[in-house]
Amino acid sequence: VNSSEFDPNTYFAALKSFVPAPYFLLTHLFTQVDATRSRIKIVNGLTNFTRVLVLMDKSALASAVWLSTNSIGPPYTALELGIGGSIISKALKSVSGISAPALKSLYDKHGDIGDVAFEAKVSVRTLVDPPLLSIKGVYDTLVQIALAKGNKSQDVKQKLVEKLLIRGRGEEVRYLTRTFAQHLRIGAVRTTMLTALARAFTFAEYGSDCPQDKLQRAEEIVRQCYARHPNYDDIVAALLVSGVDNLVESCPMTLHIPILPMLGSITKDMSEMLVRIGSENTEFACEFKYDGQRAQVHCDESGKISIFSRHLDNMTDKYPDIVDVLRSNRAISDTTRSFILEGEIVAIDEVTGALGSFQSLSNRGRKDVQIDSISVTVCLFAFDLMYLNGESLLERPFRKRRELLRGTFAQVPHKFAYAESIDATPLDQDAISTFFHSSIDSKCEGIMVKLLDSVTVPAAGANKRTKSLLSTYTPDLRQESWLKVKKDYDSAADSLDLVPIGGWYGNGRKSNFWSPVLLAVRDPDTGVFQAVCKCMTGFTDAMYKDTKAKYDEGSINVTRVKPFDFETPLTPEFFWVPQEVWEIKFADVTLSPVYSAAQGIVSDRGLSIRFPRFIRKRDDKGVEEASTPAFLAELYRRQHSRGTADPIQEQAA
Ligand code: ATP
Repeated sequence: VNSSEFDPNTYFAALKSFVPAPYFLLTHLFTQVDATRSRIKIVNGLTNFTRVLVLMDKSALASAVWLSTNSIGPPYTALELGIGGSIISKALKSVSGISAPALKSLYDKHGDIGDVAFEAKVSVRTLVDPPLLSIKGVYDTLVQIALAKGNKSQDVKQKLVEKLLIRGRGEEVRYLTRTFAQHLRIGAVRTTMLTALARAFTFAEYGSDCPQDKLQRAEEIVRQCYARHPNYDDIVAALLVSGVDNLVESCPMTLHIPILPMLGSITKDMSEMLVRIGSENTEFACEFKYDGQRAQVHCDESGKISIFSRHLDNMTDKYPDIVDVLRSNRAISDTTRSFILEGEIVAIDEVTGALGSFQSLSNRGRKDVQIDSISVTVCLFAFDLMYLNGESLLERPFRKRRELLRGTFAQVPHKFAYAESIDATPLDQDAISTFFHSSIDSKCEGIMVKLLDSVTVPAAGANKRTKSLLSTYTPDLRQESWLKVKKDYDSAADSLDLVPIGGWYGNGRKSNFWSPVLLAVRDPDTGVFQAVCKCMTGFTDAMYKDTKAKYDEGSINVTRVKPFDFETPLTPEFFWVPQEVWEIKFADVTLSPVYSAAQGIVSDRGLSIRFPRFIRKRDDKGVEEASTPAFLAELYRRQHSRGTADPIQEQAA
């Protein structure tokens, strides 16, 4: 039902006797959402559900949000279920009495572990119906599963999984099992969830005839809040107490909770950058674009330091040397009490200061690195300061943030430095070009160009409109005020971050391994993976082995049946559960007679890429950060604005 016509009170009246909110209510929502591809319907479903839940059982709302978004906590808490395929199979066998061969044949038939569990359990009869599962009860048990540690943890997890499956009825079993496998497959992606929360609380406050602009503003506020404080527990609690209008104050940027990173836009080359950055007297900074790992460092008044990755994982344990250098740095300046700064951690030769490659950085241990046994030494090149001494700097222009950064922290040779930079205007082309080449000589990827102050520039097109380029720090937004100029002029200006979604067995030496692999972009609005190419180049032997182990035939990570959230004209031998991002280079983006990725954005036909080549795994990105169809289309357009004949234009002519 359209949310503006929905009356939550009617549903509440009918459901009152079921408090605490039962899990079947949520799985009913999941079946509705599963049955549609329409984003509007999904948003309506989630919004209406939220409104009923607020009336019925507020304490279940945060749990429902986690369960709907296929997670149990924010990435920085590292709360992971850790339930493998074997735990699920053992639990299913124990709960339903099904034999291993019967389970395997169900899996071959359905290809989805949730559907398998549903069918295995549906015929099991019990004398007495077990008590209903509640939303909060399911969530709390999942947290217990995640927290199970030690050598008995697998048994403990299995028992808890069984406990839930025994109590699950009908559809509940399907979605419980998909949740165990961390592949819920409903289109409740982050943006949809945030939109639904914003709408539900606005309708609740202003009534069903609430004006459209109020709803839009609410969506903006909730999205902004998430970008600064990505934790549904806190967002839901703040919404319940003080509503949407006060959300920014009631759930602000908080130390030790990473903010979503600001993103830059690509340019195809230096001359395009000079046109896009503003008029001839616009001042900007050019910085080395280091090839390492992005890091957001938080320090509170007590001196506690946390370091987060681009994907919001807590990696403080990985970099005790950075913690050390910042702690001593904080001691140097006795006015520094708390801060959030951002920079790139890069492998470095301690003695000469020569920068190492991204590859050498990846040889560093991942966890619990001991400071006296570090073999890969690193330097943090700081490029932004977002918070200082209790005050957010997000709204300050970059010029001011940089001044505060440099005024607050002292450089420590080969351990902590400001990003190498020069200030320029579009008239300083020679200086920029020299700087660009020195960045390449220093093993950097190119340069980042950042506006020092916000400016208004003419917009593209003949209508004489203007647009604002902001030099504030805008979490989670890709801005025109941060431009990337990379070194690969001759090929595509950027790579794609694609999700592997299936594989074929190779020939000859590779007959036991996956090659080629089917790769996809991900639509952030629907969560659908759209296949874009097959890739069989650039893999090392180690990579073949690694991929084989991860997507082993018979494991929970592969299925023969096409998942409904995959859009692909090709059928690989096995589809893979999407869980990682690979960086792929290519010759160019082409209109495709086969693939449907980005269909309808530049043409009725889909897009593909020619000569894809695997570069590296992007461990710092989750599938939510994979390249989007819009980005693929953007690359296609840019390529043709560079002078290559555009078949669409040619056809039109
Ligand atoms: P995006 O973050 O835009 O999705 P990406 O993660 O694939 O893209 P790139 O396109 O390579 O990364 O460019 C942005 C990244 O460059 C930043 O996330 C950061 O890790 C890195 N970087 C290196 N030097 C700088 C710098 N001086 N300023 C900002 N970012 C920098």
